[in-house]
Amino acid sequence: MACIVQKFGGTSVATLERIKHVAELIAEAHTTKRVAVVVSAMAGVTNKFVEYAQNLGSFEGDADYDSVVSSGELVTAGLLAITLKNMGFKSRSYAGWQIPIETSSNYGSAVIQSVNPTNLERDLHEGIIPVVCGFQGISSENRITTLGRGGSDLTAVAVSDALKADLCEIYSDVDGVYTVDPNLYPQACRIDKIHYNEMKEMAALGAKVLQEQSVDYAMKKNVRIRVASSFVENKGTIISSDLTDRKFSGLAITQNLSQFKIIHELESHLPIIELLEQYFIRCEVLKVSNGKFSILVDRTKIPLMQGILSKESCILNVKREMIRKNFSRISVIGSGFTQCDREKLISVLRKAKIEVFCCSIRENGINLVVLTENLLKSIDILHKSCGLRE
Ligand code: ADP
Ligand code: ASP
Ligand code: MG
Repeated sequence: MACIVQKFGGTSVATLERIKHVAELIAEAHTTKRVAVVVSAMAGVTNKFVEYAQNLGSFEGDADYDSVVSSGELVTAGLLAITLKNMGFKSRSYAGWQIPIETSSNYGSAVIQSVNPTNLERDLHEGIIPVVCGFQGISSENRITTLGRGGSDLTAVAVSDALKADLCEIYSDVDGVYTVDPNLYPQACRIDKIHYNEMKEMAALGAKVLQEQSVDYAMKKNVRIRVASSFVENKGTIISSDLTDRKFSGLAITQNLSQFKIIHELESHLPIIELLEQYFIRCEVLKVSNGKFSILVDRTKIPLMQGILSKESCILNVKREMIRKNFSRISVIGSGFTQCDREKLISVLRKAKIEVFCCSIRENGINLVVLTENLLKSIDILHKSCGLRE
């Protein structure tokens, strides 16, 4: 009998009604397959817990922060197991530590080291549907860890690998991976299949339909993923090592970037970037000159960044000032990009009088930074000129 892992994200389990619906999907799959389930917290719950912890001055990196923000998953797993039992199935819920899913001690963005399949295999053998909390692990210090935002996707992939499952199904509120976030650009098209490399780049650069680390893990362990909707029946998108022959796959968008000028007395700006990265703050460098540089940073990371720079300013002698608030990054995703592709994309935007503030190129992506007021127009132009319309 085939074995699958089904993961349900926050919107799929947002209410008791949605949990009942998800239980029906699981029941249907259970008639022909062995099914293990992974769940997220109900929509909005993790954000609330993050807010509570941050209001008390606790951020990623603090083990107690992880205890707080991981707790929503336990509620969903328990509620779903209860619902399945009410329907006459055998089921049981698991916290990450009960599997156990062992991780590094990087609280807030822990890395999975191993997943013990023993309990899950026994359950599947006995016809029990195991429901595992996504997002959670346990460190060698015997403390609860979390796998970074969106980390239930990673749990699902790692559990699929541990069980040698035939497929990892990720159920969400969208019916697959689209050429652009369909909530932002309704003309976006669903992609039938996409290679791990391109999906990883899309996820890394803002397409939160899958967590970046989950795609990386799937690629390393060759776990086949299907992204589908729990709201409508559909084919979804397959993510695998199958190659496609298209050059452009899609656009990934990051909004809410703010520009900061940082003035310092160091020989180079690199120690400051490294310091920010230690706290998982990724930034894009816009301009560098002697003793100052300007960066783009995610708006939600500003309080954390300001805290870190104030704490370190006596050592690094750093001053900062915010310049402009509203930048967005459009990342054109595909394969085999050259400088010529980069120039073409810049020129197509410039023709439409859209200023490109920064443009970098990687093998699978070209990043273009524009003012957010020009975002939708830029997406439309790039979507058409990259031939992403059907
Ligand atoms: P879940 O709560 O199920 O984990 P997420 O909110 O993490 O779901 O991811 C689904 C969301 O990802 C969609 O609602 C959509 O707005 C967003 N998204 C961003 N880029 C894309 C894309 N290229 N294709 C599909 N969805 C995307
Ligand atoms: N609940 C966690 C989050 O919101 C993990 C997840 O949903 O994947 O980030
Ligand atoms: Mg998600």
